[in-house]
Amino acid sequence: MEIIFKNGNILTMEKTAPKAEAIAVQFGRIYQVGQGAEIEKLATSGTKIIDLKGQTVLPGFIDTHNHFCLYALLTDQADCRPAAGCVRGEDVVEALKAKAAKTPPGKWIMGWGFAPYLLDDKKELTRVDLDRASKKHPICLVHVSVHGAVVNSLALRELGFTKKTPDPPGGVIARDNKGEPNGILSESAFMGPLFFQSPSIYSKMMSEYDGAGRIEMISRCAARFLKLGIVGAHDPFVDPLTLGTYQEAEDAGRFPFRLYAYILNQWADPLMAAGVKRGFGSEWVKIGAIKIFLDGGMSSRTAAVTKPYASPPGAGKGILNYDQKGINREIEKFDRAGYQISVHAQGDRALEMLLKAFGRVMDRENPLRHHIVHAGNLTPEQIDRVKELGLYITSQPNFFSLLGDGFMEAYGPERSQKLYRFKTILKRGIKLGFSSDCPVAEPNPLIGIRDSICRRTPSGKEFGPAECVTAEQALALYTREAAYFSFEEEERGTLQAGKVADLIALDKNPLHVPPQEISDCQVKMTVVGGKIVYDGR
Ligand SMILES: [Zn+2]
Repeated sequence: MEIIFKNGNILTMEKTAPKAEAIAVQFGRIYQVGQGAEIEKLATSGTKIIDLKGQTVLPGFIDTHNHFCLYALLTDQADCRPAAGCVRGEDVVEALKAKAAKTPPGKWIMGWGFAPYLLDDKKELTRVDLDRASKKHPICLVHVSVHGAVVNSLALRELGFTKKTPDPPGGVIARDNKGEPNGILSESAFMGPLFFQSPSIYSKMMSEYDGAGRIEMISRCAARFLKLGIVGAHDPFVDPLTLGTYQEAEDAGRFPFRLYAYILNQWADPLMAAGVKRGFGSEWVKIGAIKIFLDGGMSSRTAAVTKPYASPPGAGKGILNYDQKGINREIEKFDRAGYQISVHAQGDRALEMLLKAFGRVMDRENPLRHHIVHAGNLTPEQIDRVKELGLYITSQPNFFSLLGDGFMEAYGPERSQKLYRFKTILKRGIKLGFSSDCPVAEPNPLIGIRDSICRRTPSGKEFGPAECVTAEQALALYTREAAYFSFEEEERGTLQAGKVADLIALDKNPLHVPPQEISDCQVKMTVVGGKIVYDGR
C-alpha cells in the first residue's frame, strides 16, 4: 500500500457509509475506506502513514463554474478589491497607477474586484479617472460582476470606440453629455473585446507571456485553489491558447488539477468539424460543455427580467444576447450534435426563453446533462419545468455575502427574498451543484457553504431565509453532486474504494462548528490522485 491516512474523522459523502477513520491509497486511487484497525492491517514496510490526528477529511471540492484562466490572468494584475485596500475610488486609481509603473508602455493592464457600490465613496469611475492612472497603457478595470468594465481613453482608441460607434446588440457603450464614450462598457460591449473577438484583450495579454510564463501563471493559480481544497474546476470559456497552456502545464507535471474546459458556442464549429466531443482529453484536462451566454447579471441590472428592476428608476428589464429563435437554434444545434450545453441565464425572462428552447429538443431525460448557470430568478412554475426536463443547475451561494445587498436593491425587499431557491430546488429533486464564479466571488468553497446555510448579505440582512440549506447538503453540492456535471460520479466526488484519491483535511468539522464560522475552517492538506499537493499541517 502506498499511503494510509489514519485517525481521521472521515466524511465520505457516501450515503450508505458516511463515516470512517482511515483510508488506504494505491496507484492514485482509494483502495479501501474503513475503521482504523482494518485499514492499518494493509500497511507494508514501504507504506507512508499519515496520522490525521482527528482532522476532518472530505472529498476534494469541485467548483462547477469558475473562470480559472481569467482569474489566473487577473491575479497577476491590479487587485482593486476592498479586501486589498481599495476602499475609495482614488485607491483604485492608485492601484492601477502602481501596476502601470511596472508595465512597459503600450501593454494592456487590468484591474479586478472593482464596483462603485463596494467603495465607501461609491465613486463611479470613468475614463477621465483612469487616464490619471496612465495615458500610456490601455487600461481595463473589470467590474466585480465580470459583466462590465471601465476603460481609459487609450483603451477606447485601441478598441475603436468613438462617438459614432453604435451600441452592440446586448451591450452598452455609456456616453458623457457630449455623446462621447465615457469609458464604462457593459455586457457585450465589454465581453466582446475582452473575450469573444479576435484578437481579444485576454488573448493579447496571454500572448505577452512566453510559454513558460503562461505555465507558471496557470500553475500558480492551481496552487491557490489546491490550498483552498479545490481539486477541480469547470472553466466556462477556454480559448485555444489557454487550452494549449493547460495541456502544456499538465505535460510539465505542473498542473495537478482536474480542469473541465468549456468552449464558447461561437468557437465550437472547428471542434465539431474535427469530431472532438465532451470528455476528449486526459484525466486532468478535458473538453467539457459548450458555453452560451443568454443574459447579464442581477446587480448590474442586465439579467433579463419580466418585471422591471425595482431601482434605480428606469433601470429597465435587462439585456439578452439572443432572441427566442436565436437561442432555439443554438440549443438545437449542439443538442443534436451530442454536446453538453451550459447556458448562462439569470433573470426569469431569460430563463423562460431557455426553458422553451430546451423544451423543444429534450424529453424528460437529460442524457447530455445540459445545465443552467446561475438560474437565480427561477419562478416556481419554471422550477417545475426544470425538474420535468431533468436540467441541472450550477449556482453560487457565495454571491450572498458579496453581492446580496446589490441584489436586494435591484429586486426590492420582497422579490429579492425569492431569489436562489436552493432548498426548493433540492426538494424537487433537481441536480444542483455549487460554484464560485470566481473571479466574481472569492473561490473559497467554505464561504459558499457558509452562505448557503446562513444567507446573509454584507450588511447582515437575511437573504431569503426560507431557502437555507443544511451543512450536509452544502458539502454534498461542492463534492458528490458536483461530480455529476462532468459525468464523473463514478470516478470522484465521494471517498469510496476505486475512486481517485482526491481528498482534503480540515482542522475543524464543518458539520459541528456554528454555520457562520464554517468559512474559518482551515484546509490543512489537499491530496489529488493520491499525491499530497498542499501541505499546511
Ligand atoms: Zn461566470
